[in-house]
Amino acid sequence: MPRLSIESYEEMLNRLYSTVKVRVVKGERFEPPTVRSFIVGSRTVIANFKEICEKLNRPPEEMARFFLREMATGGGVEDQRLILVGRFEERQLNSALQFYIRRYVFCPVCKSPDTELVREKKLLYLKCLACGAISPVPDYR
Ligand SMILES: [Zn+2]
Repeated sequence: MPRLSIESYEEMLNRLYSTVKVRVVKGERFEPPTVRSFIVGSRTVIANFKEICEKLNRPPEEMARFFLREMATGGGVEDQRLILVGRFEERQLNSALQFYIRRYVFCPVCKSPDTELVREKKLLYLKCLACGAISPVPDYR
């Protein structure tokens, strides 16, 4: 049997930590974004999807992945908006977004919202840009 070069968990964490760049946090207060959505036929459009991604510093594909899993439906990003198959109330989308922010934005160590979400070996980590902590987080269901 050839020996597979599998990076140990510890090595991986070390590598992740070495790429964290702690930056000076802007003094402004974090205002969590809220979803603005409307329904067209049998689809729901998140109109301010791009703004939400920018505000939370998340790639649109990653945010889209979360919403699609959370609402258990199909869809995709079109013209900076997220289109979901099915009719969803703005209230439902907002509670999903709030859940996301609590679990996938705020650093569990220092509570800063200045974080990045990183996928490594199919696992999800929250990297804090304020205190440098790396916290494993459960993947979207
Ligand atoms: Zn932190």
